[in-house]
Amino acid sequence: MRSILIVVLTAFLCGTLAACDEGPEDDRLAVVATTNVVGDLVRAIGGDAIALTVLMGPGVDPHLYRATEGDAARMSQADLIFYNGHNLEGRMTELFEQMGERGVRTVPLAETLPDSLLQTSADYPGNRDPHVWLDASLWMKAADAVEEALAAADPQQAARYAERTATYRENLQQTHRYVRERAQEVPEERRVLITSHDAFGYFGAAYGFEVRGLQGISTASEAGTRDVQQMAAFIVEREIPVLFAESSVPQRGMEAVRRAAQDRGFPATFGGTLYGDALGDRGTPVGTYTGMMRHNIDIIVDGLLRDPA
Ligand SMILES: [Zn+2]
Repeated sequence: MRSILIVVLTAFLCGTLAACDEGPEDDRLAVVATTNVVGDLVRAIGGDAIALTVLMGPGVDPHLYRATEGDAARMSQADLIFYNGHNLEGRMTELFEQMGERGVRTVPLAETLPDSLLQTSADYPGNRDPHVWLDASLWMKAADAVEEALAAADPQQAARYAERTATYRENLQQTHRYVRERAQEVPEERRVLITSHDAFGYFGAAYGFEVRGLQGISTASEAGTRDVQQMAAFIVEREIPVLFAESSVPQRGMEAVRRAAQDRGFPATFGGTLYGDALGDRGTPVGTYTGMMRHNIDIIVDGLLRDPA
């Protein structure tokens, strides 16, 4: 009875939502990805050999996202579910467990990485920083995990997945090199990145930035006045010319920091919007992972090289 209900619900959603790209006679692998960052990687490797549904769109904060009934229906019908894991999608944990119990294969990409490559955080449940994708060399390892899972679920297409993975790895390698080279344009002591939340720990470690986020690793707890004042004092002391908002976090927190720095006599300005936890619109440069990484480093470097006005 429950499965009939899900079929009916899914049919209804497919009739009304453009996002549903699998037809009723589609015999391709049905794959669900949670964030559009994960979705972009799965699409790069699966190509049109898979029918992919991505649950979270541009601007959506994965820390706070709650699955809809439609999401749950999609997931229960999927052959494979890819998610980031390490508690990034903190409000979907139970759902992943339920899907696993039903026999749907779930793959938490960040959890496939060796623990020695992960950063820890005292203020985060689960204790591992989940934002691994912001280091392109770590995301290459996630690409291998996607290939492996797709090939295991659909061995007939294994050669195709392997070929696409090899091509995409090359792409990631070039992106990694680009970000590293651009970062080096900024003198080391000026490489300080001020953002909305602590998404950029791996980014900082890989590309040589000191990173400060107003909110912690998760956005679930909001920043208080003290956090704002401390960050403003830090900006003034280090004379950091720009700070950055993130596309998936409301800008008011960083706006408060900017004003507090200004009240202390230091004219910090916004350097633009970073894409940390969510990519931008599909069809725009920031709608892909590699485009997002390039956009981020370009505005960070250009902003930090600016003289304080
Ligand atoms: Zn985050």
